[in-house]
Amino acid sequence: MTDFDFDLFVIGGGSGGVRAARIASEHGAKVGLAEEYRMGGTCVIRGCVPKKLMVYSSAYPGQVRDAAAYGWDAQVGDFDWLKFRGKLDAELDRLEAAYRGNLGRAGVTSYDARATIADAHTVTLSTGETLTTKHILVATGGWPFVPEFPGSELAMTSNEVFKLDKLPESILIVGGGYIASEFAGIFNGLGSKVTQFYRGAQILRGFDDEARGHVADAMQARGIEIHLGCNIMEMKEVEGGIWVKATNGEERVFEKVLYATGRVPNSGNLGLEEVGVDLGRKGEIKVDDYSQTNIPSIYAVGDVTDRVNLTPVAIREGHAFADTVFGGTPRKADHDLIPSAVFTQPELGTVGLTEEEARDAGPIEVYAAAFRPMQPLFAGHEERVLMKLIVCADTRKVLGVHLVGDHAGEMIQLVGIAVKMGATKEQFDATMAVHPTMAEELVTMKTPVRTA
Ligand code: NDP
Repeated sequence: MTDFDFDLFVIGGGSGGVRAARIASEHGAKVGLAEEYRMGGTCVIRGCVPKKLMVYSSAYPGQVRDAAAYGWDAQVGDFDWLKFRGKLDAELDRLEAAYRGNLGRAGVTSYDARATIADAHTVTLSTGETLTTKHILVATGGWPFVPEFPGSELAMTSNEVFKLDKLPESILIVGGGYIASEFAGIFNGLGSKVTQFYRGAQILRGFDDEARGHVADAMQARGIEIHLGCNIMEMKEVEGGIWVKATNGEERVFEKVLYATGRVPNSGNLGLEEVGVDLGRKGEIKVDDYSQTNIPSIYAVGDVTDRVNLTPVAIREGHAFADTVFGGTPRKADHDLIPSAVFTQPELGTVGLTEEEARDAGPIEVYAAAFRPMQPLFAGHEERVLMKLIVCADTRKVLGVHLVGDHAGEMIQLVGIAVKMGATKEQFDATMAVHPTMAEELVTMKTPVRTA
């Protein structure tokens, strides 16, 4: 018999928090969950889901042009942003209701309120209620970071981008990461004139160099103006949009400016410091392999811990936490060999080591092919797909796979299983090709393009 109101109180109704709450409840725990905004969190409400729907929307003009090249009497008409946005809002309402319904069916008590930690076993809600709990799970995610400079308040972030009243004719996107590069493709496809500023030498830092170059070249060929080694010094509101002064001396006006310069852990004003929870330099909650903080009753999962900031990772961390604490089966979330995709246009799919990382780890063979696939080639496109395998010369294991091209996200999920299982190059080669597909190239690359 517990002396607390709850066995577990979860702060944050995003991917990680909802999974943990549901599984803990299924294990028999009495669970409460507070969400201050909308159930579903960043991924569902203002991240992966609306982003992917915008990617689909933005790809149609290209598909219609291809259809014409294939003989259809088809032409690209006008895009009705408000019609799309209305449908998107309705879809997000549906998903939010589904999340709420799932929590309710699992027996979790939900609170539409902001929760703060009062002590190691107590939370207070913005409604004034105080609740006691044996365990607390913080799953509050992250928040867009915008650097401070004159006029920085004029920038929008990925939080606001889905709420635009109209599609901008011109947009400047600052940053070279996932979000900046994905939205560059989205707005370009929807018909905006897109300029992207990135402070470094090549976008998508951290990914395989050859793959980054391939994506950047293709984005530029599709009409995106990418300026490397470039940042903003100052912005001002002017008639027609936002005046921007860049570090390369250029001054230009854009209708909108989107900052996608990273995200920071959403750990402020939660009572964490007051109760003594260790935080890192960026404000991330420090946890062990079981997602436990230095305060034994307080745990944290997902982006607020700044481990690997991806939705499926938060879900696995939440699940492992609930099994460990309430299911009697202690287990860690596995952060090794996580496949992921960047929904740029073309897509980038990746798993394992980059060529640069693998080179440092020992002798490797690199297998790569860049070719024009059948479907776009027939429509008259020059764009090439890139497929690349990094193989350990000693063990023959495939250490990394990097794919750039349509459906790279779907392909990397499947090839990720083989890499996770430790498949060797010879086992890839022993797998019969599926013809005619793009992915058959993964099992037909015979000679390394280089060794290192
Ligand atoms: P990223 O960390 O991926 O990229 C941030 C970018 O902003 C980098 O290019 C960085 O440059 C640049 N930057 C940082 N600070 C400044 C500054 N002061 N001035 C100028 N540029 C700056 O963050 P995102 O916002 O793109 O995405 C956040 C997280 O969300 C990602 O880490 C990812 O995990 C997740 N995400 C995943 C997606 C997916 O799986 N498809 C999609 C969207 C997001 P530099 O490289 O020099 O540091």
